[in-house]
Amino acid sequence: LKGPVEPMAVTLQIIPFGANERLVMARDITHVKRLEDMRQHFVADVSHELRTPLTVLHGFLETFADLFEGQDGEVRSGIALMREQVERMRRLVDDLLALSRLETTPARAHDDVVDMGALLKGLADIATVLGADRGQRIEVENCGADLVGNVDELRSAFTNLVQNAVRHTPAGGSIRLVWRADASEGRFVVIDSGEGIAERHIPFLTQRFYRVDSDRSRASGGTGLGLAIVAKVLLRHDARLAVESVLGRGSTFTCVFPSSRLKFPPDPSRAPPP
Ligand code: ADP
Repeated sequence: LKGPVEPMAVTLQIIPFGANERLVMARDITHVKRLEDMRQHFVADVSHELRTPLTVLHGFLETFADLFEGQDGEVRSGIALMREQVERMRRLVDDLLALSRLETTPARAHDDVVDMGALLKGLADIATVLGADRGQRIEVENCGADLVGNVDELRSAFTNLVQNAVRHTPAGGSIRLVWRADASEGRFVVIDSGEGIAERHIPFLTQRFYRVDSDRSRASGGTGLGLAIVAKVLLRHDARLAVESVLGRGSTFTCVFPSSRLKFPPDPSRAPPP
């Protein structure tokens, strides 16, 4: 081989063969990996470039909205429509950037001790504000253990689950946020009494842009990227997402963390005598 050797990406498959032998199959996936890297960087660059023009549009539309306030007519409704669409694009660009950051940056040492009491309170406040006009009942249950990880990523993942619960639960429904932990694992659970999801959709929910009912989801402000972000964050925390749902009855989204991610408060009964 001449010149520098490029790093290769390979998958290895080990197949038992005969009594004591193993067959090792190596597949060169360098080109697949390279294409995937190009896709990720392209999406990140485009999203980044779109941010500035969208901010300018947003700013001017706010000014126009003020100028035409109190007047009836086509111009005002046109401005309202443009503001709504620009807002949607901003949400989409923010979600695309968040997703590509999770895909392209290595998971840094995820060792913040996350105060779950404070995080749950913040999430309950978000649910209350988002569902203010729906009178949803918000309940919180906290086991008192803390979680070890990246607080910003975890907050954004949990917020996505809470936002979804609020969006898909009708007026008067209930949303429960539960944090439970034992010696083997920790579970952050969002339970809603909303519209539910048909079973056939469940395996695809964490795919980018997958929507159960695209019109309804778009109208409710969703970008189709929320659960993809949740899945990526959980992967970076050695955790997984479990979804259970009954159409018309509600959904339960559970984030399951391994015990290595848990921190329990010291047990006073085990404290050494003074
Ligand atoms: P979106 O931004 O459109 O909400 P998500 O990736 O967060 O995208 O969710 C994907 C789809 O899963 C949504 O379009 C919605 O149809 C469905 N979904 C997510 N959470 C819930 C929920 N709590 N109840 C019912 N449907 C849900």
